[in-house]
Amino acid sequence: MSSDVRNVIIIGSGPAGHTAAIYAARANLKPLMFEGLARGGIPGGQLMITNDVENYPGFPEKITGPDLMKAFRDQSLVQGVEIVTEDVHKVDLGGRRFAVWAGDDKVEYRARALIVATGAQAKWLGLPSEHALQGKGVSACAVCDGAFFRKKDVIVVGGGDTAMEESSYLSGMCSSVTLVHRRGEFRASKAMQERVLRNEKIKVLYNAVVEEVLDPRLGEVTGARVRNVKTNESTVVPAAGFFVAIGHTPNTDLFAGQLELHDSGYIKTRAGSTYTSVPGVFACGDVQDFTYRQAVTAAGSGCMAALDAERWLVLNDGH
Ligand code: NDP
Repeated sequence: MSSDVRNVIIIGSGPAGHTAAIYAARANLKPLMFEGLARGGIPGGQLMITNDVENYPGFPEKITGPDLMKAFRDQSLVQGVEIVTEDVHKVDLGGRRFAVWAGDDKVEYRARALIVATGAQAKWLGLPSEHALQGKGVSACAVCDGAFFRKKDVIVVGGGDTAMEESSYLSGMCSSVTLVHRRGEFRASKAMQERVLRNEKIKVLYNAVVEEVLDPRLGEVTGARVRNVKTNESTVVPAAGFFVAIGHTPNTDLFAGQLELHDSGYIKTRAGSTYTSVPGVFACGDVQDFTYRQAVTAAGSGCMAALDAERWLVLNDGH
């Protein structure tokens, strides 16, 4: 066990975690950050699988997701953040000091305040071709990547509110949107369905599953092979972009039973703040945000978490 008690431990190394770390370091809280390896062996969150970022303010020339995360990380280091590259395996939020176990030898760390910034992951169909073309026309975020397909044809997969929202958004800039849904009716709210069904640029393929995203051999998206599950007939839908909108999974397994979660698994935070159900534990970024899910909003909430933690420590822990 590591004997010293840290002021703040931050779990997660995306835009939320690093912004929280930079602010906490500048408040002289000497934060310790865990950047995990579990998601594909790379710390840095979802931007690490994003090619070009054109909507993060401050970068008029586009920047790649990994370059942006490297800049975040470098800034954390410049500010004196201690970064440990280990997965956190377990937390105990029950005591006066929060306990965190990390690494292969399960070292125990303790902190007065904890900032959770473990993010969320888009759900994928699980096709090898989808994986091969991620960042090369396959995306799980229309707001992030839609502009790359201006005046082009795109495919959206899903039948929930996200799929409706992404289809409507993309129809504003793309030539056409083909919405592929595996059943004969949408799960989405009536109002959002109607918006899609009224939109002449969106064509819906019901009872349809994607068999393959084309064309991994060319290294770019040219369309998808789609099978009608009623007739078993396969057709090729041409498209330059392929958007998967089948939901997200917040990375909250570590906190189940310890922090209050929404039914969807996201951490509940008090409105207008990053306070969770446990005093001294704060949550920021996509792990608590199922609405905006942008790098810049994650960073903003990371700043809020550091300020909330600092003020909480002053009032409650004699920092
Ligand atoms: P949902 O879980 O609601 O919907 C996921 C959709 O993807 C379903 O239609 C599902 O099909 C389909 N799907 C899931 N897995 C697969 C798969 N392997 N292959 C093909 N299709 C698949 O997720 P959302 O992200 O749409 O929404 C999550 C929550 O966020 C909801 O509560 C939603 O209301 C909310 N939300 C609200 C918004 C708003 O109000 N503006 C905007 C976006 C989301 P099936 O229906 O057959 O299960």
